[in-house]
Amino acid sequence: MKPAPFEWLAPESLDAALALKATHGDGARFIAGGQSLVPAMNFRVAQPAVLIDLGRVGGLDSLEWQADGSLRIGATTRYRTIERDAAVAQRLPLLVEALAEVAHPQIRTRGTLGGNLCHADPASEMPAVMLALGGRMEVRGPRGTRMVPAAEFFVAPLTTALAEDEMLAAIVVPPLPEGAGTAFLEVARRRGDYAMMGVAAVLRRDGAGRCAEARLAFCSAGPTPMAAPGAAAMLVGTALTVGEIAAAAEAAKAEIEPMGSVQASPAYQRHLAGVLAARALTLAAERAA
Ligand SMILES: Cc1cc2nc3c(=O)[nH]c(=O)nc-3n(C[C@H](O)[C@H](O)[C@H](O)COP(=O)(O)OP(=O)(O)OC[C@H]3O[C@@H](n4cnc5c(N)ncnc54)[C@H](O)[C@@H]3O)c2cc1C
Repeated sequence: MKPAPFEWLAPESLDAALALKATHGDGARFIAGGQSLVPAMNFRVAQPAVLIDLGRVGGLDSLEWQADGSLRIGATTRYRTIERDAAVAQRLPLLVEALAEVAHPQIRTRGTLGGNLCHADPASEMPAVMLALGGRMEVRGPRGTRMVPAAEFFVAPLTTALAEDEMLAAIVVPPLPEGAGTAFLEVARRRGDYAMMGVAAVLRRDGAGRCAEARLAFCSAGPTPMAAPGAAAMLVGTALTVGEIAAAAEAAKAEIEPMGSVQASPAYQRHLAGVLAARALTLAAERAA
């Protein structure tokens, strides 16, 4: 299948990209790595008259550590760039562990984090990771810049909080709490396939080794990435024993809304969520100093 005819434009600045979007309106789409948009165009599911290529926009492909320890990731930064960055691996290991589950190396060489978050597929790993890490989206538009927390960015399947004339410029990931342990696990039919269920876990222990902070977020668990705040709260104050983790994992199953797929029924997805949550929490607890 070939895409419907389109005009290709390659602005060199963010303002120029936004101006083109304002000019062409909803007939235009931004393209980053093209790994989701081009297949959709080939199947004629998407038929933009104008493609605004972000590949030449300066400053969008970047990894910058901020003074407060957070990481600002430019929207067109390729997965591979993030995955291979030693400082990211050391300071935000959850990002690298989850990226290894996203598609295949060829796709990760072209695909961008910003494109993936804007595509907002509920089966995607990175939206759930951003939820677990407390990531914030730096959104730019004709009305200026606004920061949108991950919890508010993903609105519905393939739908974000971006207005028609806005774009994602960067993702800001706060530093992990001191000594925190993290883990990402998923089940997919084949390596590189979208997950039937995936979970990101973040745990921090206090000086006595008890759980001081916990976060759980799932992909393929509902119309958007799903957090499990109730299950996480159950862990705070506990010694993270096998029984306490099992109880929280069981509780998390009630906090998600799996929609089912050709590969897995909602009941099976819920079962997977319980199993993966227990394993990820156990791993994160081992890694938490
Ligand atoms: C074989 C295959 C397997 C895959 N498996 C997985 C998988 O297991 N897990 C997974 O998560 N993904 C998977 N993907 C999708 C892949 O991760 C894509 O790279 C990603 O979803 C989109 O990123 P992109 O940079 O390619 O964006 P594009 O395809 O260029 O764009 C995606 C959407 O985001 C919009 N957009 C892009 N950048 C911006 C921006 N800065 N501001 C506003 N809108 C923007 C575009 O207009 C488009 O609507 C797979 C893809 C393929 C082809």
